[in-house]
Amino acid sequence: MGRLISIASGKGGTGKTTTTANLSIALGKMGYKVLAIDADLTMANLSLVMGIDDADVTLHDVLAGDAHIREAIYATSYENVFLVPGAVDWEHVLKADPRRLPSVIKPLKPEYDFVFIDCPAGLQMDAMNAMMSGEEVILVTNPEISCITDTMKVGIVLKKAGLAVLGFVLNRYGRSENDIPPEAAEEVMEVPLLVVVPEDPKVREATLEGVPVVEYAPDSEGAKAFFKLAEEISRIAGLKAKVIG
Ligand code: ADP
Ligand code: MG
Repeated sequence: MGRLISIASGKGGTGKTTTTANLSIALGKMGYKVLAIDADLTMANLSLVMGIDDADVTLHDVLAGDAHIREAIYATSYENVFLVPGAVDWEHVLKADPRRLPSVIKPLKPEYDFVFIDCPAGLQMDAMNAMMSGEEVILVTNPEISCITDTMKVGIVLKKAGLAVLGFVLNRYGRSENDIPPEAAEEVMEVPLLVVVPEDPKVREATLEGVPVVEYAPDSEGAKAFFKLAEEISRIAGLKAKVIG
């Protein structure tokens, strides 16, 4: 049985889309069948990060009632990885109803080992609908106190709403001397630290090239961290499957 996992945070620009893309590709390389969904309806960019820019039917058409979700699923150039892209033009954004996200996304669960939902930041209506399309959540934060506390708030709300918080990714670590260290971040977040991803220029370079860093520079420190995250998620998924099954 697959797992529906939202990728969420309190602030924008923390690395949700980067995490979604790299985690999907890393798990695909491990042999899992993965679907990555761009559910950041106003700032859709997952498809650009993953190198697809010519999608005809998008999630926005599905949410407008103009297409079936199956028409919006694309095979990517990455092994075992499929993608539901979003539209970037405002006309499509205006027509798409975010309240439909859970009913569109949840039925896809049995067909994949992992479905990752790249969410907007915060707790507004768009973000809530995207995050509530998952059953579990991975939080992504940067090592700054305001970012950590905002992301912690999102985690608390989602937990209350019934999602299982798998833990958090501490991304872009080492950019500043004032960065909150991993142990302190974990204490504030009160959920497990899944991985520390260092600040790595290769990650940004990869984004610009439209090839996520696990493929673009697999030996870079950033890529290694995302491979480690994939190992961790695979391990957690295996454990839970054993407990339930
Ligand atoms: P979000 O989806 O949360 O808004 P993105 O994943 O789009 O954030 O990341 C924002 C920017 O930060 C992108 O330009 C991305 O390349 C860059 N970035 C993300 N993680 C790292 C990292 N570990 N090192 C360097 N740059 C990063
Ligand atoms: Mg994003």
